[in-house]
Amino acid sequence: MSTAKYEVIIGLEIHLRLNTKSKMFCGSTNGESETPNLYTCPICLGHPGTLPQLNKEAVRLGTLLGIAVHGEIQLNTKFDRKNYFYPDLPKGYQISQYDQPIVKGGFLEIFPDDITPKHVRIERIHLEEDAAKLKHDAQGNSLVDFNRAGAPLAELVTCPDIRTAAEARVFIQELQQIARYIGVSDADMEKGHMRCDANISLRPIGDEALYPKTEIKNVNSARYIEKAIEYEIARQTELWEKHEAPQVTTTRGWDEKRGVTVEQRTKEDAADYRYFPEPDLPPLVRDSKEIDALMKELPELPAQRRERMKQEYELSYHDARILCAEPFIANFFEETISELRGWLNTTHGEEGAEKEIWKTHRQKIGRLTNGWITSEVFKLLKETGQDFSTIKFTPENFAELLTLVFEKRINSTAGQKILRVMFAEGGDPSVIMQTHNLEQTSDSGEIDGVVTRIIEENPSVVSDFKNGKEKALMFLVGQVMKATKGKVNPEVATQLLKAKIQ
Ligand code: MN
Repeated sequence: MSTAKYEVIIGLEIHLRLNTKSKMFCGSTNGESETPNLYTCPICLGHPGTLPQLNKEAVRLGTLLGIAVHGEIQLNTKFDRKNYFYPDLPKGYQISQYDQPIVKGGFLEIFPDDITPKHVRIERIHLEEDAAKLKHDAQGNSLVDFNRAGAPLAELVTCPDIRTAAEARVFIQELQQIARYIGVSDADMEKGHMRCDANISLRPIGDEALYPKTEIKNVNSARYIEKAIEYEIARQTELWEKHEAPQVTTTRGWDEKRGVTVEQRTKEDAADYRYFPEPDLPPLVRDSKEIDALMKELPELPAQRRERMKQEYELSYHDARILCAEPFIANFFEETISELRGWLNTTHGEEGAEKEIWKTHRQKIGRLTNGWITSEVFKLLKETGQDFSTIKFTPENFAELLTLVFEKRINSTAGQKILRVMFAEGGDPSVIMQTHNLEQTSDSGEIDGVVTRIIEENPSVVSDFKNGKEKALMFLVGQVMKATKGKVNPEVATQLLKAKIQ
């Protein structure tokens, strides 16, 4: 069965928990605790007669997010009551924004395949309060934890512009990075700081209508959302093929264990919520000067940083994307490069002005640094399950290690060994090189004996090489490296082997 007959329509609704000290409409701490109902007060517990008070910091953060996604900040907005009955909502309504959200419009440009730009329009961002958390215990009791009740949320709704599961994942990752760069939210999906619902429907190619959609809820990672959407596309394609396309909008949950979506309920539409203006809060009127000031406050965004780093260090989009995923990694990269530039200027000063030296070497330096971070450091992080921000060595140490490689004082095998020690214990790579006796031997006299022995021990490989098999030589070089514990410069070993065989 092919999906090519159908166009996939995907829209996302993303809730971000804002990084404020207190909750959206009261002074209770906006935080998490193992102890239930620790951060509560009569307002977020929904006691009758209490009055909400708007958290200005939440408004500032929501606005900052709106600016970062190129949205139009609304100067006249208000809050509304969204009425529904559920035990996680003691007031019987959620304070949200209905027809006057703080942000209208906007877009993100993403690169799902690292090459082709995809423009995804944003419909709106509104502010609202979170509901409490229900916990179901082993005895069949349902318990309510109000720590989360009233926590400040920004809800971002995209236009139905997304066409593939991968685009949805990349959009979510991009928004997550933006939220972290500008500090509006930790956007940690596993902790529920970022929650995504995906709306999916299909239509025959060429058809302009929108058909009833499925809303996938409660997915706690960008990877799972991608999988859930893929599953849902396959499921709906099958229904269309059987002439049983969905007739009503439904909500489905993602069951990670089984890898399927499961129907939960048919969805209310806006009329069921009986939205009306929140009478206990005055309209929110903004000053355009305040918005202008916030625009100036906005730091460099992930997209800008990727573009700048691409140009400054001649990196590919792919490499820039990986380095910029976490500001800490991008900073480490740039601090390492800055150390290396200082070193270049002292060692290559005879070549001319600093600008010229940098221009000549930046691509090589950029690639070397990128390669060592994304393959070697990442490998060690993966092995130990550590986070980049906890590494024990400084950009200065790391730059020094790279100069040893750059100057061919060590080969990459020795470099990896030194990095492993730096990773485990911290410390100065030159000292580690000396204490572990890893400095490369380029003195051919010293390795002459080893080369002769390797040739004698591998007569068939030697004759393979003589018969034109280039790979045979690689094997012999490998044997020399092994015998000398990686201390030999591979180029020197290659030269010596060739000379001796011929
Ligand atoms: Mn919402």
